[in-house]
Amino acid sequence: MKECLSCQIFYQESTMSCQKCGKPLEEISLQQALAHTRMNILRKISKEKDFKVLDPQTQYIIASYFGDHSLFLFFDMNKNHMKYGKKITRFFIQPINMTCVFNIPWFLFNMIYSNYFHYRYTQFCETCQCKHIPGRHSSQECEYNLGYFHILRDVLNGNIIQTKKIYQKFLEKDKKGHHRNPYEDLCQRPVRMETFLDLLSIGFSIFLWIYLTVYVSFPMAKSFVQKVQNPNVYEWSFFN
Ligand SMILES: [Zn+2]
Ligand SMILES: [Zn+2]
Repeated sequence: MKECLSCQIFYQESTMSCQKCGKPLEEISLQQALAHTRMNILRKISKEKDFKVLDPQTQYIIASYFGDHSLFLFFDMNKNHMKYGKKITRFFIQPINMTCVFNIPWFLFNMIYSNYFHYRYTQFCETCQCKHIPGRHSSQECEYNLGYFHILRDVLNGNIIQTKKIYQKFLEKDKKGHHRNPYEDLCQRPVRMETFLDLLSIGFSIFLWIYLTVYVSFPMAKSFVQKVQNPNVYEWSFFN
């Protein structure tokens, strides 16, 4: 395996120079590749005020840690990520891709909630670096936001092994005070229920597509073909 040490991009053996900066590539061992990957992830996420990275790979690592691959967790992560920072980088909370075709209820919910988000989340808090609804940003919500991103960072850089106990202590405290807790929202989710609803939503979408194909598209195509093959048949039937 080869790597451009300036850009930290890996390349295949056959590549000679970096496609980004043009510098010659260095041959690296498995150990070096793993160490560099770890360092890159840390560099991207460890800066306190920089949580720009929430790509599918990062989300997959977080979802794997919490043992929940349902769309509910991904939506929750994307929603909080969208709140983070002054800039808005996209319209849809859950980024749109081809899977939306097979998950129509989620797509509709995503569209409605994204519109709601842009309409309501118009103010920004410097403390937690998050957008919020004007007049509705309590100190508890502020702490929730700070905690949420601390947890994500700790999962990604491995510190969660040490900090897990602290989060659990705060979870107990918040439960007593009936406050929302970020650790609870991330790790104590009804995974089975969420997975069931995901499957239901996908099943419904597939059923809808089959229905549209069989009962709408086929008859339309059939009458179109008949029209093309015998254009006079309609005029004839009209006079009889
Ligand atoms: Zn390079
Ligand atoms: Zn705040």
